[in-house]
Amino acid sequence: MSKDLYPIGEVPPLGVVPPTMYACTVRAERYGEPKDSLQIEVVPVPSIGDDEVLVYVMAAGINYNNVWASLGVPVDVIRARQNDGENLDFHIGGSDASGIVYQVGKNVQWPRVGDEVVLHCGSWDDNCPKVKAGIDPMYSPTYRIWGYERNWGSFAQFTRVQAKQCLPRPQHLSWEAAASYMLVGATAYRMLFGFPPNVVQEGQPVLVWGGAGGLGSLAIQICRAVGAIPVAVVSDQSKYEYCIELGAKGCVNRNDYSHWGMLPHWTDKEKFDVWLKEARRFGSAIRNVLGSSEAPAIVVEHPGENTIPSSIFVCATGGMVVTCAGTTGYNGTVDVRYLWMRQKRFQGSHFANYEQAKSLNDMVIAGRVDPCLSRTFQFSELPQAHQLMYENAHPHGNMAVLVGAPDRGMGRRIPVPKP
Ligand code: NAP
Repeated sequence: MSKDLYPIGEVPPLGVVPPTMYACTVRAERYGEPKDSLQIEVVPVPSIGDDEVLVYVMAAGINYNNVWASLGVPVDVIRARQNDGENLDFHIGGSDASGIVYQVGKNVQWPRVGDEVVLHCGSWDDNCPKVKAGIDPMYSPTYRIWGYERNWGSFAQFTRVQAKQCLPRPQHLSWEAAASYMLVGATAYRMLFGFPPNVVQEGQPVLVWGGAGGLGSLAIQICRAVGAIPVAVVSDQSKYEYCIELGAKGCVNRNDYSHWGMLPHWTDKEKFDVWLKEARRFGSAIRNVLGSSEAPAIVVEHPGENTIPSSIFVCATGGMVVTCAGTTGYNGTVDVRYLWMRQKRFQGSHFANYEQAKSLNDMVIAGRVDPCLSRTFQFSELPQAHQLMYENAHPHGNMAVLVGAPDRGMGRRIPVPKP
C-alpha cells in the first residue's frame, strides 16, 4: 500500500508517487550561511506537465549555485520566481542528480518509467521563437537553470524536470558518482568547445583556475582527453598531485603571488608597476610549467574579480579568457590595452545546451572523464556540505548526497582512468 511519506532511503515501488516528500529547502527569512539557511522539511510532491518527467532522486550533486541560493545573492531566487508568477515561498536547490523515472508527461517519448537517468540543469521553452529558429537555447529568454532559477531541484526525494534534461545514467558509476559531474562537466565542456574559433585543441596550453575544484577537475580531464596541455592554478601544494593525476602538465600556487584583486588605475604608475611585475612573474611560472614560451590559448576563469586582470594578461595573443562565474566578486577589471593590442577575447559562458551536456555525458560513459567524486554525504548533512563549500574547505573534486541510494561507505573515490 502506498504511503503518504517515505523515509529517506526507502525507495517507493516503481511508479508509486506519494503526496509528500522530504526536501532540503531555503526560505527567504533564513537567507545567510548554508548551515543556517538550509533545512529539511516535508513539502508536496510536484505534479508534472505534458513535456515533463518526475524523477525519484537516488543521489544529488552538490554545487556552488546552492551556496548562492542560500545566501540570497547575487539573485534572490525565491523573489525572482515570485516576480515571474510562482506562488511558492521556498526554494529546493540541487542542479545535479541521478535517479529513476517515476512519471512521464503525455508528450514524452523518452525516457520511460523505470529508466535510470542523470539530469542536466538546462531548461527552456521549445516554443520560444528563438529556439524554434534554431538559435542556441542558451540564448533564449526562457532559459533557466533547474534547481537554481527553477524550483523543485534534486535536494528532495522527487524532482520535476523537462524530459530533455534527462540523459542515460553511465552504468559503470555508482548513483552518487553519476550525480556529481554533470553541472560542472557540461559547463567546462561549453567553455572549452562552445565558442569557435577558440576551441580547445591538441597541443594547446590551457590555464585552469581552481584545478582541484569541481569545474577545474573536469576541465583538466576534458583538455587531456583532446590532447591539450592543461596547467592548473591552486592554492596549496597538496593539490598538485591531484591535478597532475587528472592530466595537468603542472600547477602554479596562487599563494606565491600578491597581485590579486581589481587592477590599480593605470595612472597610478607606482602601484600599476608592482601589479605588472607580479603578473609577469605569474605568467613566467606558467611558461615554466609548460617548458616553452607559449601562453595559454584558453583560460578557464571563474574566480572573477581577483583573477580576471591576470587571466587576460597571461592569455595568448588571439586567445580567449572564458568565464562562468565571479566567486571572488563581480568587478572583473580589464586593461583594454591587452585586449585590443593582442586581440584577445573575453567571453562569458553559462552552463550548456543539450548537445554539450550529452557530449560530456558520452565522454563519461566512455570512461574518458571521471566524475571526481571525493565525498558522499547523508541527506541530513546537506547544510554542512554546502557550508564546507562556502568556506572553500571542501575536499577536491565533487561532492554528492545520498537520497534514495543505499549507503555503501562514505567518500568512495573512483580511480581516474588513464588516457
Ligand atoms: P569549487 O569546487 O569550490 O572550486 C572552485 C575553486 O576556486 C576552488 O577549488 C579554489 O581552488 C578556487 N578558488 C577559491 N578562491 C579563489 C580565489 N580567491 N582565487 C582563485 N581561485 C580561487 O567550485 P566549482 O564547482 O568549481 O565552481 C566554481 C565557480 O563557478 C562557482 O562560483 C560556481 O557557482 C561557478 N559555476 C558556474 C557555472 C555556470 O553555469 N555559470 C557552472 C558551474 C560553476 P584553490 O583554492 O585551490 O585555488
